Parts: sequence; C-alpha cells; structure tokens
Amino acid sequence: MSGTRHLILVLGDQLTPTLSSLATGDPKYDRILMAELHDEATYVRHHKKKIAFIFSAMRHFAEELRTAGWTVDYVKLDARESQGSFSAQVTQAVAEHQPERIIVTEASEWRVSQILAGWQTQLSVPVDILPDDRFLCTPSAFRDWTEGRKQLRMEYFYRDMRRKTGLLMDGDKPAGGKWNFDAENRKAADANLFMPRPSAFPPDAITQDVQALTEARFGNHFGELAPFWFAVTRTDAEAAFKAFVEHALPHFGDYQDAMVEGEPFLYHSVIAQYLNCGLLDPLGVCRQVEAAYRSGKAPLNAAEGFIRQIIGWREYVRGIYWLKMPGYDRSNFLGHTRPLPDFYWTAETGMACVKAAVTQTRDEAYAHHIQRLMITGNFAMLAGIDPYPLHKWYLSVYADAYEWVELPNTVGMSQFADGGLLASKPYAASGAYINRMSNYCKSCQYDVKQRTGKDACPFNALYWDFISRHRDKISTNPRMAQTVRTYDKFNAAEQQRIRDSAADFLASL
Ligand SMILES: Cc1cc2nc3c(=O)[nH]c(=O)nc-3n(C[C@H](O)[C@H](O)[C@H](O)COP(=O)(O)OP(=O)(O)OC[C@H]3O[C@@H](n4cnc5c(N)ncnc54)[C@H](O)[C@@H]3O)c2cc1C
Ligand code: SF4
Repeated sequence: MSGTRHLILVLGDQLTPTLSSLATGDPKYDRILMAELHDEATYVRHHKKKIAFIFSAMRHFAEELRTAGWTVDYVKLDARESQGSFSAQVTQAVAEHQPERIIVTEASEWRVSQILAGWQTQLSVPVDILPDDRFLCTPSAFRDWTEGRKQLRMEYFYRDMRRKTGLLMDGDKPAGGKWNFDAENRKAADANLFMPRPSAFPPDAITQDVQALTEARFGNHFGELAPFWFAVTRTDAEAAFKAFVEHALPHFGDYQDAMVEGEPFLYHSVIAQYLNCGLLDPLGVCRQVEAAYRSGKAPLNAAEGFIRQIIGWREYVRGIYWLKMPGYDRSNFLGHTRPLPDFYWTAETGMACVKAAVTQTRDEAYAHHIQRLMITGNFAMLAGIDPYPLHKWYLSVYADAYEWVELPNTVGMSQFADGGLLASKPYAASGAYINRMSNYCKSCQYDVKQRTGKDACPFNALYWDFISRHRDKISTNPRMAQTVRTYDKFNAAEQQRIRDSAADFLASL
C-alpha cells in the first residue's frame, strides 16, 4: 500500500490548475490519475486533429502538475496498464493505491456524469463529485432562472450574467446604453481585407508522439492531422488569445457573420478548443476584452459581441443541456429522417459553400459559427436530415466539440429540433443570404439567382419546399408568418416547380 490519501481523477477537459478537485487536494498526500482512454477517443469517431490536440494538452498538463509537486499517474493510450474506460482505470487504481476517497470535479457531459455517479455503489471507497466552478452559472441556478418563464430567451439570461459579473457595466447600466450591439455586427467581408491568422505553434516532441499514436490507432477517422498548429499549453493558449485581442478583436463584431472563400478564420478568436478543455479561463478572457474596450483598443460592438458569446451563449447552452438531458439528443420536432449525405465526410459536392465548409472542417477541425449554422446546419434542416446523426457529425468533427455545448447548438439552434425552446425561429435561409454574407456563390456551379431548375442554387428550392412542408409547425411563429405568406403568393405552377426541383435534388444525394 502506497499511503495515498485521495485519488484525484482529472478528466481530459479539466486541464485547469485551479480546478475544484485539485484545489481540495494536497500534493504531499494525494495522487492524480489521468488517462488516455480508448472508449473516450471512439464513442464518436473524433477528428484525428481533435484527438491529437486533447492528448497532447493532457500530457503537457500532467507535466505542469508534476512540476508543481504532484504525483501524477498518467496512463498513455498504448501503455500496458491502459484499461480503456474510466471505470476500469479507476477500479485498477483503487486496487493498487487503496485511497481513502476518490475526488473528481463533475463531468461536463451527461454520459460521463452517469459513469461517475455509478462509482458510489460500484467502488469500495467514497467518491466526492465537486462542482465545476469554471462556469458562471450552475445547472441548478439555470433551472431556477427558467422557473415561471414562458420563453427561455438567451438575451435575458445574458443581461443577468452581465449584472452578475459586472462586465461592460457602468454602474447598473450597460456600457454604451445598450445591452446588445448585434445589429452592427452583420457586415459582409471583403476578400481584400487584411485577415489576421490565429497564432500557430509548431508541434513539439510530445505532440509529434501523439500524432504518431493517433495515426496508428485512429488512422481511419475523419480529418487531417497536419498541419497541426494548436496551442497545447496554457502559456501558448494565452499568447494566442492575446494576439487575437491585439489583431482581430477590433473587427470581430463587424465581420462576425461574414464568410470568405479561402479564409477559414476571418476575425474569429479560434479559442473554443482552449476554453472547453480548460486551457483558457472564460471570465479571464472576457475581462481582457473589456480592458481592450476600456483602453480604446477595441470598439464596443466588438467587445460586447465577444463577451455575449462567452457569458451569454456559452453559459446559456450549457444550462439548456443540463435542463433537458437525458433525451434532448433525440429531439426531432420537424420529424426529419433523411440520412446524412456522404459529402459531409468527403466534401464532394458542387455546392461551393458546403464544399468550403466541409473541406476546412476536414483540414482544420474548425469552421466558424456562421458556417456551422448557416451552411452545414441550414442545408441539413432544409434537406430534412435526421438531427441525431447530424449531432454525431458535429460532435466528432470539431476540435472544440463536447456534447454539452455542441448538442444544444445543433439540435436547438441549427435544426429547430426542440421546437423553439432555444431558438426563437428556425435558422432557415435561401441562397440569397449566403450570397449576401459570402463570396462563395461567385465560384459555384449553381446559379444563386435561380429558384428552380437543375442549374439553380439548391438552397433556393429547398428553402421554399421547407417552408411549404412545415407550414403547420412554423406559420404560428410571428417571425415566420411573413415568409409563409410570401410562399402562398407563388402561383400553383411555381409551387409545383419548387417541389419538383427540391425532390430532384434530394433524389440525387
Ligand atoms: C451546429 C453548431 C455546432 C456547434 N458546436 C460547438 C461545439 O461543439 N463547441 C463549441 O464550443 N461551440 C460550438 N458551436 C458554437 C460556435 O460555432 C463555436 O463556439 C465557435 O465557432 C468556435 O469558434 P471560435 O472560438 O473562433 O469562436 P468566436 O466566434 O471567436 O467566439 C468566441 C467564443 O464564444 C463562444 N461561443 C460563440 N458562439 C457560441 C455558441 N453558439 N455556443 C456556445 N459558445 C459560443 C465560444 O467559446 C467561442 O470560442 C456550434 C455552433 C453550431 C451552429
Ligand atoms: S449558389 Fe447556392 S450552393 Fe452555390 S455557393 Fe451560393 S448558396 Fe451555396
């Protein structure tokens, strides 16, 4: 017996030195367990770059903890002691070290939370599951916020978070006199604008090792391993964020909804993968953005837009996730059943916008929000794709994808599959929207101006066909009523051409 007091389990998205489980521990008496697990790498077939990123960040974090004086048992995926699952790995560690207690910070997703909850009865030692205080709003505080509300709109939740944190507040008033500057954040980008690239960090020896391991074990997963430029340590992630604040934040608001051929990142921060595994602190990054605004280095529409994404949307979708799980993943309000087309994996499609979004997803494990929402998400909803396999696709292909944040974005925001719990209307758009916000249509084989026919942009007929198919479910929505009336004004022959064009295109998938 080694005399371990507590066994502290640190999960792959808990790479934060101030984590609640670590804060209760003492390096003199306690032992940390971290493990690269086959079950976790394969419960969906994650993008290769995502696996390499997380394993490398975990290995670097284990080194950081050792330097801070902790005893860390780090089990590599291909180690002899690797057990493949959380439960088997912890059972083995309990047998070996016989700790008095197991300490773990709560899991971010439902599936893992159920595994942890089972240990109370399965293992011979008490298990303490501590709150994850890296979030601003606990699941129970979010539940309280929902009590008595007819609608759970993000905007009102966000205002409470502004008041709670004091971010961008002048006394009890929002800075600039308005809570939300979104109306200023819809400029289409000009391809000639200077686009700063996110900071890139060449793979070190640890990352090269995990790249080789990932290729050997998960070579048939989706995605390219190289080029690999993500930060894998806190220091580098912080440097990447600092560079964003300096070079891209000033334009973040203006071009938040824009899309440009060959420019995957535009003025986005590309930090969700760092925030979600614990390398960056959500409140800390918001404070830096507020400081940039207060010192005149970034305009208010950019600072407010950025802060709203983090303390608004990010916290709000987590609240919805825990409010609605289990079962939220099977939501299908619109009754969609079509299988996911192959081009979500191959990028082999004539639709230039979809091709661009899937190609960069394959190459970078990244697409920005409007590509996820208005290209791949919008297409799936218009085409009637089953939201469940689509959710699995989003969960596997992005380096930042964890179910607590991906699922409400997919099921609620992009597919309207929860019937409007999260989104106030379906995010459905025809080619005209994509043409306004991007330059994809210029190089596309389809004609964005045509509504029907074999050369017409498929988004057009699919959009109107969607409106017609779901009119019963959407016409009572005040934000959709006008669109339904427009469809009704098309004559019968045009409505038939729309149905035929949509059917022909869907048959070709
Ligand atoms: C269908 C779909 C699936 C998505 N899946 C994920 C996912 O798995 N993981 C994930 O972190 N985000 C997801 N998002 C939200 C958003 O698209 C990403 O957070 C963002 O694109 C990440 O890029 P960025 O860091 O450059 O973000 P920026 O545009 O620079 O925004 C800054 C930060 O705000 C936060 N944020 C912005 N929008 C959202 C949002 N809607 N929900 C939650 N946080 C938000 C992120 O932490 C992001 O890093 C999804 C959106 C859609 C429509
Ligand atoms: S024409 Fe249609 S399919 Fe082609 S890029 Fe434009 S919106 Fe996409």
